[in-house]
Amino acid sequence: MTDASFQNREGKALPSERINAFAEQVQGDLIQPGDRDYEEARHIWNALVDKYPGAILKCRSTADVVAAVKFARDNNILVAVRGGGHNVGGRSLCNDGLIIDLSLMRGVHVDPAQGTVSVQGGATLGDVDRETHVHGLAVPFGVISKTGVGGLTLGGGVGWLVRKYGPTCDNVLSMEVVSADGVVRTASAGENPDLFWALRGGGGNFGVVTSFLYQAYPVSAVFGGLIVYPRAAAREILRTYRAFMDTAPEDLTVYVGLISTPDGTPATAIIPCWSGGDLAEGERAIAPLRKLGEPLMDAVQALPFTAMQSILDDAFPAGTRNYWKSAFVKGLSDDVVDVLVEQAKGMTSPLSGLLIEYYGGVGGRKANDANAFAQRHSDYSIGFMPQWTDPAEDDAQINWAKAAWKAIQPYATGGYLLNYLAEGEQEAVKAAFGSNYPRLVELKRKYDPTNFFSLNQNIQPDTWARTSHK
Ligand code: FAD
Repeated sequence: MTDASFQNREGKALPSERINAFAEQVQGDLIQPGDRDYEEARHIWNALVDKYPGAILKCRSTADVVAAVKFARDNNILVAVRGGGHNVGGRSLCNDGLIIDLSLMRGVHVDPAQGTVSVQGGATLGDVDRETHVHGLAVPFGVISKTGVGGLTLGGGVGWLVRKYGPTCDNVLSMEVVSADGVVRTASAGENPDLFWALRGGGGNFGVVTSFLYQAYPVSAVFGGLIVYPRAAAREILRTYRAFMDTAPEDLTVYVGLISTPDGTPATAIIPCWSGGDLAEGERAIAPLRKLGEPLMDAVQALPFTAMQSILDDAFPAGTRNYWKSAFVKGLSDDVVDVLVEQAKGMTSPLSGLLIEYYGGVGGRKANDANAFAQRHSDYSIGFMPQWTDPAEDDAQINWAKAAWKAIQPYATGGYLLNYLAEGEQEAVKAAFGSNYPRLVELKRKYDPTNFFSLNQNIQPDTWARTSHK
């Protein structure tokens, strides 16, 4: 029982009896300001985001999520949904409102006979990889093991298997969703197919996904890792990368990063992952990338896929300050390469990075409206990713990302990867949905007409903002 209270969207404090009745109704813990666990529960990966929710419900079941949605609706409370808490814009947090926190709902069940995996909505990529690996299987996810499957899948999802098997959202078979009306729905090709279409790339706009059913693939050992060259080689490496990707097999995904080594030395990293089964073939395919001069480090080798999935984890620790700007460019022309190399010189924190990713492959051959993920035909993705620890540097670091992003604009497609957007980039959200945006607005009107789920890469059902959900 608690005497604390929190405010609804009109700024009125809720009577504590009502909060206590809600706390008794759910299996999960309702954590409020002053509770022992509040400080830990209100923090997410990005320390730049510092918010004070009215309460955090650590849900234990779908019934808890339903109760939370109904409680928030009945009391006109702002809600945020937390999966892995990895969204760089902090979309899983809010001030005053209720956090529907799924971080205890991380169950994973593999069906090896069917090659499918059932995953609860708060699991991380690492939770899933660990279980699928036991069966020699893998789901195409992102590249950091601590990222949540929830936000990543709903926003698209790109990683080491993207070229061979497509983005994560293309590999979802069905979902259990708690909609804004508190009703539990199945979304699949056979049930609520329009909702299924919207959830695969439409972000958190259409409800709380309590479980995902994924298609998995036989990926167990891969050939990959990290090759690090001096930064002075960046121009040549990026040009080689461009030519290399033109003919690279779809078994191979390669990213390039302009980064710093742990001692602060500017460097150029190539990160390849071959998932084609025959590792000797993978070694041959990657060989040209290992002969671009004298590397500072060459740690490319045969690896369990789970090791590849966490190889970059230490570069993105929880609790640092992060701000991202990103863009797609129309090809990696010499001019683009020059701009990137020049802008990278402005990175003053050794933790920062400038990441260049190329997808293409099987996902890129599908129609743009195959589902809501609208960037499957985009070319090179550029991420300006300052990371620092001292709050006094906030403005300088954020300004670097903005200036670097501006410098690349003459070459940008105008599209964005939904998952990489920072807070407040509403125009970019619309651009990320591209030609799928009008249909998404229609479906938002159908499934969430009052914009109950608004703290996400938001699709506004109306041109005017509503504040009440009653
Ligand atoms: P959260 O912050 O918990 O949630 C993000 C959004 O999704 C919120 O709006 C939330 O409400 C909604 N949401 C989360 N779970 C659910 C759910 N179960 N039901 C309904 N809504 C939900 N993306 C890639 O595609 N590939 C990568 O390789 C990649 N690497 C990354 C590395 C790092 C270090 C970080 C910080 C991010 C990375 N991302 C990557 C981006 C990432 O996919 C997005 O930030 C994504 O939103 C994170 O999902 P989450 O569940 O962890 O986030």
